[in-house]
Amino acid sequence: MDRKLIKGGNLYAGQRYLSDQPAAVFVVDERIEALGQEALNAAESDDVQVFDCPDQTLMPGLIDCHTHLSLDPDLPDYLLRMQDPIPELTLRAVQTMKRDLLSGVTTARCLGDKDFLDIHCKKAQAEGLLPGPGLLVAGRGIRAPHGHGFVGSAFSGPENVRQAVRENISAGADLIKVYLTGTVRGPRGMPCTFSEDEVRVLVDEAHRAGLPVATHCIGGPGFDLALECGIDVIEHGYFLSQSQIEALDASSTWLVLTPSIFFSDQRLETLHGNLKQIHLQQREQVARVMQQVVKSSVRWVVGTDGMHAGLAAEIEHLVGFGAEADRAIAGITTKAADLMALSTEIGSLAKGKRADLIGVQGDPIQDVSALARVRTVIQGGKVIRRTESDKGALADSGNS
Ligand SMILES: [Zn+2]
Repeated sequence: MDRKLIKGGNLYAGQRYLSDQPAAVFVVDERIEALGQEALNAAESDDVQVFDCPDQTLMPGLIDCHTHLSLDPDLPDYLLRMQDPIPELTLRAVQTMKRDLLSGVTTARCLGDKDFLDIHCKKAQAEGLLPGPGLLVAGRGIRAPHGHGFVGSAFSGPENVRQAVRENISAGADLIKVYLTGTVRGPRGMPCTFSEDEVRVLVDEAHRAGLPVATHCIGGPGFDLALECGIDVIEHGYFLSQSQIEALDASSTWLVLTPSIFFSDQRLETLHGNLKQIHLQQREQVARVMQQVVKSSVRWVVGTDGMHAGLAAEIEHLVGFGAEADRAIAGITTKAADLMALSTEIGSLAKGKRADLIGVQGDPIQDVSALARVRTVIQGGKVIRRTESDKGALADSGNS
């Protein structure tokens, strides 16, 4: 048995501090065995490796609720680079997964990649061949031929949509992703790019197989159709109206917020054509919607949409829009695990859960920028990273 004691300066177990307890987590193999004083007691034997992180808050490993493995905003014209050959996209995915993991993301939900490459990456990661977050995957994102979706694949008509869903399921998808709108408001507003027939077939096929459906949807009639057809998760929601936020609030549908797509200045520089100007023009309206959502009781969580290693920035944006720090952090820990139906395994630190935990320098509830100072990463009981500069530790992560 592999026994480890991780000692920090502070312990945030997920939606609660254990401030009356010593900041300690005892890990046996891939599971958490004890927290606090119980961890210190349980670890009193010779064969326990001790990791001291006195200036760090120990907290659950982070969950990115919306990513794409082969999107890389560090590349010029990065959205157009989705047309690169599949082997190039796959090599890119290998890099982005490593970056995400080192930034503290121990689990990620992938909302579509080309040619099932996310499903192959999920298997390779689970088999220990590929370092990265544990993955929940959508396979191919389903978009209309005339619709948005640089990362998606085009399908048209109810029978083709049905076939696409079935092929995704048989390839190993965990959820089904459909693009119903663009990402910015266009000259014709926010048209919905699939018909009601197509959406109903898609939801029916997915739900009959027990898979949830997520939709890329910024608002407009696509949002109303999504709610009406029983879609489980709205992704982005940048332009929801007040009445749509209220409808969401009254439903059990989740909303995944991805503010950096609009509010990262660095990202805007990597966009092609006039997309930078369009995003800048629409920022103010998106900010107003985000302010309303974070104050509501909508079931919102948080993702990067492929802004790899950028979860800390997403949280900073949301706190800037008025979210409470602990609520925003729940969107990448406890509530994120709820969205993924994985809360018995991940999202908080508790006995019996997977030993996915990180140490951040500082106190993230007092100052969410601490989330950008990840010093320790432990995934499934394996030490991935231990210091600020420890970016090459993945090679021998199993041994330390
Ligand atoms: Zn996306």
